[in-house]
Amino acid sequence: MEIGFIGLGNMGAPMARRLIEAGHSLVIYDTRNDAAVPLVALGAKLAASPADVADRAETVLASLPEPHIVAKVATGAGGVIEGRRIKRFVDLSTTGSRVAAEVAAALAAKTIVQIDSPVSGGVAGAQKGTLAVMVSGPAAEIAHVKDALAVFGTVFVVGDKPGMAQTMKLANNILSACALAATSEAVVMGVKAGLDPAIMIDVINAGSGRNTASTDKFPKAILPRSFNLGFATALMTKDVRLALDEAKALGVPDDIMRAVGRAWETAFSEIGPDKDFTTIVQPIERRAGVVVGKQT
Ligand code: NAD
Repeated sequence: MEIGFIGLGNMGAPMARRLIEAGHSLVIYDTRNDAAVPLVALGAKLAASPADVADRAETVLASLPEPHIVAKVATGAGGVIEGRRIKRFVDLSTTGSRVAAEVAAALAAKTIVQIDSPVSGGVAGAQKGTLAVMVSGPAAEIAHVKDALAVFGTVFVVGDKPGMAQTMKLANNILSACALAATSEAVVMGVKAGLDPAIMIDVINAGSGRNTASTDKFPKAILPRSFNLGFATALMTKDVRLALDEAKALGVPDDIMRAVGRAWETAFSEIGPDKDFTTIVQPIERRAGVVVGKQT
């Protein structure tokens, strides 16, 4: 299948590579020219703009950082909306349901169908093809792309309306954000009391406190102080802000989400938006006057 792919970052590059390895023919674009080089070496064709991608493929996938960039790439000047061949736009980014619905409506005016397909499972999941792929959109259009999306991991069709998969993704990510923020506070508390953080993580993982931060983020990136899982604090903070917007729009309780949001805003402003999201532990360490893991 001929597929367009826009956005070749931490997630997009390994997903695009997996599509090529599965036998698909790719037309790719990223504003960073160097991002395309390894994929061109694998046989992908380089396009000059999102509109050029959409001139050359019926199915165009995108993995982009922020909702306003998704909107611009999809519906702005030079966007996929101007393409002559495109039939469906599949957004792999975390965009939020409001922007997803706006993009879907704008594309529908040009008879292009939008399919939401945000993913979860991190860079390692993108590399190994073990992502959770959450999909919403018209069933007949999803049928066209389901096999291609299965290259990324397990496909869950969660609804037929634009934005439903985005709400699913935000529910997942607010839990992931909460687990990392809460585990950081709990482990810092133990370290301040003299506990060994590695032993704490072993105990938590054998007990009822086990979660994705204790099983994955602490052992891989916080205890070794490598802070290198490939997801920027800016993007996790964006996801938490989107979850709060979603809760507000739906009129549902959000007390815990707001507390989690404060922890991410602190990491965003004190440690920096471009740092790996596992650095959320650092503002908590600073306030406690301890360091988790070995000294830097
Ligand atoms: P990233 O910043 O590493 O990659 C984004 C890519 O988009 C970059 O290569 C950038 O150059 C490109 N880009 C930016 N503006 C562009 C434009 N106008 N046209 C074309 N390309 C453009 O981000 P990422 O970590 O790969 O995340 C991508 C999306 O996936 C985000 O929405 C994120 O929330 C989501 N996500 C990320 C992870 C993760 O672990 N990194 C996990 C699940 C979901």
